[in-house]
Amino acid sequence: MDKVCAVFGGSRGIGRAVAQLMARKGYRVAIVARNLDVARAAAGDLGGGHLAFSCDVAKEQDVQNTFEEIEKHLGRVNFLVNAAGINRDSLLVRTKTEDMVSLLHTNLLGSMLTCRAAMKTMIQQQGGSIVNIGSVIGLKGNFGQSVYGASKGGLVGFSRALAKEVARKKIRVNVVAPGFIHTDMTKDLKEEHFKKNIPLGRFGEASEVAHAVVFLLESPYITGHVLIVDGGLQLTM
Ligand code: NDP
Repeated sequence: MDKVCAVFGGSRGIGRAVAQLMARKGYRVAIVARNLDVARAAAGDLGGGHLAFSCDVAKEQDVQNTFEEIEKHLGRVNFLVNAAGINRDSLLVRTKTEDMVSLLHTNLLGSMLTCRAAMKTMIQQQGGSIVNIGSVIGLKGNFGQSVYGASKGGLVGFSRALAKEVARKKIRVNVVAPGFIHTDMTKDLKEEHFKKNIPLGRFGEASEVAHAVVFLLESPYITGHVLIVDGGLQLTM
């Protein structure tokens, strides 16, 4: 079987760290993001044999075309990571409808579209492994993050149902739910303010989440699982 891993949102942050680890382990990696220049730079850093693709996960045709392009250039995808995500923190009463739609389309619909597109080749290959990146916020809720939390909580329900649907095809679906991780998404947050609620006393690194993602990607007897990687944050929420 091919060892081809598509990482949506692989150009920066958590997805990029996953792409780096998978490349080191010998997978051929497709880095997918909207900004092709940034994705190309990230793929270039992995060395030869890895490629970048431009795609907006919220757009069905983009996702379909991307899977076709990956298959043409790298082979059939049998490992999929959904790390493409955005945040738009605000109180619900101040949240614009277009921001709600963007959050749900990128964080939830996007993963549904990529998983559905991946199913075709994974079913043909009688095997595959998917990790969707959720969030501890989707499990516990947080002030100012109702829509973001809904998108991430929805991802858990989606992933667990899909895990049941496709287990007999030897396809596994799991979720990693990070807490606060140092990436572009959190660069404006004051760590000092938040770290008192984190038992391990600090934000995590993208590489620390990547280890959990790769563990689930490669664990043959785990499916429908939600692995929290948050330095203990959920214990205090
Ligand atoms: P970053 O902002 O660092 O990276 C986001 C990645 O997603 C980029 O590669 C970006 O590339 C891509 N992306 C965003 N929107 C789209 C889109 N519509 N289509 C395709 N690609 C897209 O975020 P993180 O690495 O921090 O986050 C990764 C995931 O982890 C997200 O789902 C996030 O919600 C989740 N998470 C992050 C936490 C944190 O503390 N950092 C905590 C909990 C969960 P481009 O902009 O070029 O499209």
